[in-house]
Amino acid sequence: MGKIAINIATGSIQKNDIIVGIDLGTTNSLIAIVREDTKQPLAIREIDGLALVPSVVHFDEYGNVTVGAAASEKLISEPQNTIYSVKRLMGKSYKDISNHADSLSYKIIDDNTDALVKIQVNDTFYSPIELSSFILKELKQRAEHILKTNISKAVITVPAYFNDTQRQATRDAGKLAGLDVLRIVNEPTAASLAYGMGLQPNEEKTIAVYDLGGGTFDMSILKITNGIFEVLATNGDTYLGGDDMDRILMEHWQSKFGINSNDNSILQELRLTAETAKKHLSNNDFFESNIAGKTVNISKTTFEALLKPLIDRTLACCTNALKDATLQVTDIDTVVMVGGSTRVPLVKNTILQFFNKKELFDSLNPDEVVALGAAVQADILAGNNTEMLLLDVTPLSLGLETMGGLMDVLIPRNSKVPNKVGRQYTTHIDGQSSMRISVFQGERDLVQDNRKLAEFNLTGIPGMPAGLPKVEVTFLIDADGILKVTAKELRSGIAQSIDITPKYGLTDEQVEQMLLDSLTHAKDDMQVRALTEASTEAQQMLDTIERFMKKNDGLLSPDETSTTLAQMQILREAITARNKNLIQKETETLNDISRPYAERLMDFALKNAMNGKKII
Ligand code: ADP
Ligand code: MG
Repeated sequence: MGKIAINIATGSIQKNDIIVGIDLGTTNSLIAIVREDTKQPLAIREIDGLALVPSVVHFDEYGNVTVGAAASEKLISEPQNTIYSVKRLMGKSYKDISNHADSLSYKIIDDNTDALVKIQVNDTFYSPIELSSFILKELKQRAEHILKTNISKAVITVPAYFNDTQRQATRDAGKLAGLDVLRIVNEPTAASLAYGMGLQPNEEKTIAVYDLGGGTFDMSILKITNGIFEVLATNGDTYLGGDDMDRILMEHWQSKFGINSNDNSILQELRLTAETAKKHLSNNDFFESNIAGKTVNISKTTFEALLKPLIDRTLACCTNALKDATLQVTDIDTVVMVGGSTRVPLVKNTILQFFNKKELFDSLNPDEVVALGAAVQADILAGNNTEMLLLDVTPLSLGLETMGGLMDVLIPRNSKVPNKVGRQYTTHIDGQSSMRISVFQGERDLVQDNRKLAEFNLTGIPGMPAGLPKVEVTFLIDADGILKVTAKELRSGIAQSIDITPKYGLTDEQVEQMLLDSLTHAKDDMQVRALTEASTEAQQMLDTIERFMKKNDGLLSPDETSTTLAQMQILREAITARNKNLIQKETETLNDISRPYAERLMDFALKNAMNGKKII
C-alpha cells in the first residue's frame, strides 16, 4: 500500500509525493516546485522573498553547521571554517584541483593522489559530497517548513559538462541529505524546460543555451522535436564564471591601488567588494568603495575591457559546440540566457551579436531558471505532465584500456544517452585466466592522459591459448548518464559487471558510512584501500596457481613445485602481515615464477594434439 500525504496547511490530501527540483549551484542553490493549482513552476522563497541560498557552509568550533546567507557573513571573519564553491570540488581528486587549491581560503588536504579530495575544518575532514549534502539538507528543510509537508524526492541539476564521477557524487550528496534523487538533469536542459519549450506538440526548434554562473560555463545546443529534447552538443569550461570576473577585478585593484595582503580576511573583503562592484556596474557606470582603509574604484568601461578576454573564451566554446553539432549560427532559432553572470550587459550584448540577433530568452530570473526547469522535470516524473522524453549526450568519450596503455573508445563524446555499445576483446597470454577491465573517460589516445573511472577483473576465464577467449565488454549508459560496464567471456559464459563510477563515487552502504568516515584521516583511508587492493590481487593469483597445480599435476618438476609452494607461503605471510609493499613485491615474484608454466601448458597441449594426428 502506498503512503498518503496530508498537507497540514490546507488539510488537503496529496496523492503523489511532491517531487522538488533543485539547482545545486556553485554559488547559489535553490529549490522549486510546480504549483498544484496554477501548474506553474515556482521557486520556494523565504518570508524575505529570497529564493537563492548561497552555497556556503560554515562550521563553528563545536562543529555546528550553518548554511546560506548566515554562513556567507563568516567568509571574512572565519575563512578557514567557511566553505564556498564546493561544487568545483565535486568528484575531484587533489591532483585535479591542485592548480586552484591555493586560491581557496579553506584547507584542502594535499595528499597529491587520485583519492577523493577532503576539506579540513578544525580537526574534522569533510568530503565535497558531505558538504553538498549540508546545502541540500538546508534546502529540503526550508521547503518542508514553507510547504508544511515532508519532502523526500528530488530532481537535481548539474552542469552539462559534469562527468560521470561528478554526477554520481551529486546523487550521493542527495542521498546523504535524505533525498531520493529521481533524476540528474543537465542545467541547460532544465532551463529550456522552464521557458516551456518542448511542451507544445509539433514544435521544432534548435536552441543554444548560454549558462554563465558563478563557477561554471556551459554551452549547450538542444533540438526539440515533437516534445522530445535532444542535446546535440555540449561545450564549456568548469573553471569559468562570475567568480573569475570578481578575481579579475580583485587583481586589477590589487595592482592599481597596492592592496597586497596575505591576510585572508582582507582578501575575502576584496572578493566581496569586487562582486558588489560587478553587480553595481550591471546597472550603473561607476563604482567606488573602501577596502582596508584604501579607496578603490572602477568605471564600467574599464571593467568591460577587463572582462573581454573572459567573454571571448565563452565565445570559443560556442563556436566549438556549433562545430560538434555540425551547425551554423544561422541554424539556431533561440538563445536562452542562464546564470547570474548573464546580467552583465556586455555578456548579453556580445552573445546577442554572436548569434546574430536571434530570439533571446531572458525574461525569467537567470538565477532561478534552472531550478524552475528542474521542477518542471520533477512534475513530468510525477506523472503530472505530458509524456516527455529527455535525451542527453555524453560530454566525454568513454573507453577501455587496451594493450600498451591505449584508449579504445566505445562511446564517443556527444553520443546520445541512453546508449549501449558492445565490443569483443581477447587475451594476449596463453592460459590467461583473468582480464583487467579498466574504464577511462577522455579524449586522449593514451589512457594515462585520461581519467580512470573504474577497474575490475573478469576472473575465471578457462585456460585457452591466447586469442581464443571471446570477452565481450558492454557499456550501458542510463538516462542519468550513469555507466554500467559488463564483461562476459562468451565461450564459458562467466560475467562480471560494475556500476560506474565507484572510483570516486560511492555505493549505498558507503554513503551511509560517510558521516562516520569523516572522522578518520583521509590518508588512513587511502592506505587501507591500497592494502585491500594489493591483498585482493595477491589472493587472486594464489587461487589461480593453486587451481593450476591441482589440474596439471605432473607438469611441474618436484623442484619447481617446491619453489612455487614456498613462494606462495611467503606471499600468504605478507598478506597476513598486511604490508602493502611486501605483498606487491612477493606477488610480482610469484608471477615471475609461474609465468612459464602457462606457456608450457600450451606446448604440452599442442604436442598431445599433434600426437593424435596421423600423418600418412
Ligand atoms: P551558479 O549557477 O554558479 O550557482 P548563479 O547562476 O547563481 O551561479 O550566478 C551567480 C553569479 O552571478 C555570481 O558570480 C554573481 O556575482 C553573479 N551575479 C548575480 N547578480 C549579478 C548582477 N546583477 N550582475 C553581474 N553578476 C551577477
Ligand atoms: Mg547555475
